[in-house]
Formats: sequence, structure tokens, C-alpha cells
Amino acid sequence: MSDLTIGVLALQGDFREHAASLEAVGARAVLVRRPAELDDVEALVIPGGESTAMWKLANVFEMFDPVRKRIADGMPAYGSCAGMIMLADRIVDAAEGQETFGGIAMTVRRNAFGRQTESFEEPISFDGISGDLHGVFIRAPWVEEVDAGVDVLARVTAGPATGRIVAVRQGDLLATSFHPELTADHRVHGYFADLVRAAR
Ligand code: GLN
Repeated sequence: MSDLTIGVLALQGDFREHAASLEAVGARAVLVRRPAELDDVEALVIPGGESTAMWKLANVFEMFDPVRKRIADGMPAYGSCAGMIMLADRIVDAAEGQETFGGIAMTVRRNAFGRQTESFEEPISFDGISGDLHGVFIRAPWVEEVDAGVDVLARVTAGPATGRIVAVRQGDLLATSFHPELTADHRVHGYFADLVRAAR
């Protein structure tokens, strides 16, 4: 039995893949759909998927206030792709009325790299992990701007988007534009598990 219980927001998206990645690094993963289920976890992963669908479902399931409160109280969280959007204080190219949980003082541009057909993969150098990651980008956002206090962990290093920010950390909140949960390399989840333990 692991000492570490991490929730995965399971309203929509690739939550099963995140749960498997967390289990692979020795955490216990718990799917979270209801406010009460948040009480049992010490950290939360917000999966990739579609942020507009997550926004609507989070309203239906009354998850906005509980998640915002836990984040404000210091709960560590990690969001990939749509999850990065959900952790952003500000979004560009949002749907009409689209809300996020927020927490990271950054502006994220939705669908920044283009449409579905423009999804791509490329090696990513990530500050704090030695050796390149295999970055899988699917209708991904990028981080357009970060405020003071947000550390940039990775940028695109090839092609027209060179220099764009694709991974950030603000305290115990982590976000990536890409999807480590769709690869067999679990180092980003290991990084997050270490972060959660260190936050105790
Ligand atoms: N474009 C999606 C959104 O706005 C994110 C895509 C993804 O998570 N792969 O939510």
C-alpha cells in the first residue's frame, strides 16, 4: 500500500492513463468526480481532454468551489494539456464564458499550435529531469506569459513555435502542454510524486 494517495479528476479526458502513470511511480491513484472524494486525496491531477467539457462538467458536478478551495489551501496539483488550461489564471481563445480553477499566475493560449491535424511529437528538455522527454502534443495550449513566481520548466526547441513555454511550476502546482501520461516514460509523474511528498 502506497503512502501517497493522489486524485485524478475524472470528469472527462485521459484520467485512466494518468491513474496508470501514477500507479507506475508507486502512488495510489483515486478517481475524483464528487466534492467528497477530494477529501481523501492529498494532491490532484487534472487530465488532458477538452477544457470546455471539463469546465461544464465541473459546474454540473459542483467541483469548482471545492477544487479552488483545496488549491488555495496548498494542495499540490498537476495538469496536462486541458489540465494546464484548467490551472491557468488567464486563458486566451477561451470559449464564451469558459472558467478555470486557476492557481498558476499565467496566461495560456488554447489550441495554440493549431488544429487536431497539427498535433505533433518532439523531444523536450525539462528542468529537473535529466534526459529528454518524449513530448506528445495534441491540440495543445502553450503558455503565453507567466507572472513573477512561476518557473518555466520547458520550452519548444524546434520549428515555428521555438521558445514557447510548455511546462511550468508555481510552488506545488505543475502544468505541461504535453501528455506524459500517453507515453511509457513516467518521469513527470515521478517528479510530481516527489513534489507532493516534499510538500507535506
Ligand atoms: N484543446 C484542448 C482544450 O482546449 C486541449 C487538448 C488536450 O488536452 N489534448 O481543452
